[in-house]
Amino acid sequence: MPADPGFLSRVRVKKYGGTSVGSLERIEGVAARLAEDLARGEIPIVVASAMSGETNRLVALAERIDPDYRGAAYDVLVASGEQVSIALLAIALQKRGIRAQPLLAYQLGIQTDSVYSKARIQKIEGETLLGFCRRGVVPVVAGFQGVDEEDNITTLGRGGSDTTAVALAAAIRAPSCEIYTDVPAVFTADPRLVPDAKELARVSFEEMMEMAALGSKVLHIRCVELAAKHGIRIHLRSTFEARAGTWIVPEGEIMENPLVTAVTHDANTCVFVLHPVPAGTGFLADLFDRLASRGVVVDIITQSDTGDGRRLAFSVTKEDVALTRQALKEFLPAQVGVEALEGMGKISIVGVGMRNNFGVAARFFRTLADARIPVQLVTTSEIKIGAVVAADALPKAADALAGAFGLRATGGV
Ligand code: ADP
Ligand code: ASP
Ligand code: MG
Repeated sequence: MPADPGFLSRVRVKKYGGTSVGSLERIEGVAARLAEDLARGEIPIVVASAMSGETNRLVALAERIDPDYRGAAYDVLVASGEQVSIALLAIALQKRGIRAQPLLAYQLGIQTDSVYSKARIQKIEGETLLGFCRRGVVPVVAGFQGVDEEDNITTLGRGGSDTTAVALAAAIRAPSCEIYTDVPAVFTADPRLVPDAKELARVSFEEMMEMAALGSKVLHIRCVELAAKHGIRIHLRSTFEARAGTWIVPEGEIMENPLVTAVTHDANTCVFVLHPVPAGTGFLADLFDRLASRGVVVDIITQSDTGDGRRLAFSVTKEDVALTRQALKEFLPAQVGVEALEGMGKISIVGVGMRNNFGVAARFFRTLADARIPVQLVTTSEIKIGAVVAADALPKAADALAGAFGLRATGGV
């Protein structure tokens, strides 16, 4: 513990996303803002993503050589984008007379498991990190990356820099974590799809977790899980405007809940259809075991009898398509046909207010039916309803649902 009792209360973990560091001008803008934070007495710990587009570029390079490859070399490649952005940001800070040190995961003992391309953080040396702050040095930490027990570089899954930030906040027992991004708040829908979506002042951890799980990329799911587990409030706010954004907080702190808080879309879905599959739960257990051991996150699962055999359908994200194909190739008997439906998406509504209300599902499906959008798979929990639809129908679906559930800034329900 530091001798100065006010020290920890002034430490702030601040994460800047890809667009926020997307050009040299923007990197200089972030450095200028950090200089203002320091002048106000804050002690920043900075986490940065790769410059926007860079991780996609790196992924595409690997895919041109082998679209199915997932292994240690993939993580070495895709982690490199953050090395560039933290170095540039540290240079921009130093130009302003601020002592700053770019830090890669191994320097902070950000230890993960060895599930390449979607590793999970196991521990972080919080004291090492605070040591920099105590010496008056601003740590500028590479988001998205870790190291496993054998010192291999790992990555945390797309969007994983958010998770690095919250994990650092947890390691130093900070009460909150600031996530700076290219939107000023969490909205009732992605403003790119629904331009008149409303800003939300507060969102519960639970709702945010559902939104992330359903594909809203505004926050990485693991980051929200970690924040909920450690009670760390997330303040999501704009990199470009100096004003408050959205606080992600425990549910008990939110007084009034609307029926539906947000509509979430995900253009990143692929449905695998297997037919005919053997009857019996043993087959299902073995199949999903195999997928899980490959690190595939299976989302919605349905099974039906077609008259000429059992049909199993499940959805995964596009990033997991290669892993899924590999696992199926190794596991399935030759007579089982596999069809991958790409170009699918998921549209969902989320809200703790749905818990005690009837008729939400009816209104959800009625809205999609009126918009003539066919539904492939369905998933529900007490606070969400989601449907797999064609990806090109997502804007229409989001717009119709925003209207049906009163999620627009203009106009009523
Ligand atoms: P960063 O690079 O800063 O991590 P991301 O692109 O990962 O930023 O996430 C921010 C983006 O999330 C926004 O530009 C927005 O298009 C999208 N988004 C999706 N759903 C929402 C929502 N409900 N509210 C705000 N932004 C959303
Ligand atoms: N650069 C990584 C990605 O594009 C991590 C992140 O941006 O959070 O997925
Ligand atoms: Mg992100």
